[in-house]
Amino acid sequence: MWDTKIPRSHPRYESLMIREKLVEGFKRGIVVPEGLIAHGRGECFDYLIGEATQPFARKAIEAAAAALLLAKHPVISVNGNVAALVPREVVRLAEIVGAKIEVNLFYRTEVRARKIKEVLLGAGAEEVLGVDDATATIPELFSERRRVSPRGIAAADVVLVPLEDGDRTEALRRIGKFVITVDLNPISRTSLTANITIVDNIVRAMPALIKAAEEMKGKSEEEIRNILSSYNNSAVISAALTHIRERLSSLASSLLGR
Ligand code: ATP
Ligand code: MG
Repeated sequence: MWDTKIPRSHPRYESLMIREKLVEGFKRGIVVPEGLIAHGRGECFDYLIGEATQPFARKAIEAAAAALLLAKHPVISVNGNVAALVPREVVRLAEIVGAKIEVNLFYRTEVRARKIKEVLLGAGAEEVLGVDDATATIPELFSERRRVSPRGIAAADVVLVPLEDGDRTEALRRIGKFVITVDLNPISRTSLTANITIVDNIVRAMPALIKAAEEMKGKSEEEIRNILSSYNNSAVISAALTHIRERLSSLASSLLGR
């Protein structure tokens, strides 16, 4: 099994473990081949940002915790990669902020949707929407991606949609949802369309979001509202791009100075 193959001392241990989890998820029918490719795109950006939660991501995480806590009807949308990488964290976050959990798949099959629901129930979820009850639709989206639960995304005011596709993010915004995403690519359409963009790896962002929400619960509603109202997503995405540029510039200079 995967935990015996990769020595802990390997410089890319964390990254390789994530890959193994996705491959395992693929073999179990939770992750689709396209999900593995999407992960590769994410990894590339993780390399560029330095494989750590940077200050711009911390700001977005704080604002996301605030938005989820203030929401009347928050929903966490789960796809195959999210279920393979952070199922327990999804359940924990949902508990803390009182969110519903909904399976929503770009490449939807009933078998895969059901398998993902099983993973989430196994991770401790009490209820998982979007599998047998995906009877509502998101206008202007085609195929199976339209289908959502009337008690979940259809009724939500705030939705957390990690590793989401641009079309769907745009459609969610058009129907008035407040969208929070986790996406390592700061210039994906999803990142540029969301209300709050956490540019970080989901495996780091979710535990950080849980911690932020736990800590924020002790604050007054006014303080939480202030955190959200002072948040500027364009500035955060801009800071992510500047971080990458500066990091590359200093790497480039250090090579010349050798
Ligand atoms: P968009 O449609 O928003 O322009 P895209 O077509 O590039 O994005 P999708 O496959 O639709 O990409 O969505 C997957 C997104 O998730 C990618 O932008 C990728 O960078 C990101 N991603 C993949 N793995 C992770 C991860 N582990 N943590 C955070 N983000 C990730
Ligand atoms: Mg896309």
